[in-house]
Amino acid sequence: MAVSENASWDDRLRATGLRATAPRRAVLRLLAAWARPATHAEVAAALAPDSWDRATVYRNLCDLAEVGLLSRADMGDHVWRFELTREDASTPGHPSAHPHFVCSTCGVVSCMPDLPLPVEHVPAAVRAGRVEVRVHGVCDGCA
Ligand SMILES: [Zn+2]
Ligand SMILES: [Zn+2]
Repeated sequence: MAVSENASWDDRLRATGLRATAPRRAVLRLLAAWARPATHAEVAAALAPDSWDRATVYRNLCDLAEVGLLSRADMGDHVWRFELTREDASTPGHPSAHPHFVCSTCGVVSCMPDLPLPVEHVPAAVRAGRVEVRVHGVCDGCA
């Protein structure tokens, strides 16, 4: 693991007021590598070799979501999924409200590019990005 990578996570953690602990770094590194929303169960399973138990992983996911480093969303199956918060390309400083693709066979969720809506007469929440867009279909792995 590159020292510089840890250092930048540490800086981002400290900027939120959270201490830079090993489980928090591990969660951030994992979600950065996956680049898609993941459930607590998926993250806990991936970090099990580091011997952090499910409760520790869950507490850290919630802490990181609370300070805004992670975004948390229910994709329609009543399970929270966590992903690194990305900045909106058109409004820096605001979280990106990009759409998600949900596989109806395996349930894996992936991020889709931000798509500008070429319409004017839409509710204010749409213009402000305070909506969730989910596309359901069958992923490449299940097709
Ligand atoms: Zn699938
Ligand atoms: Zn996403």
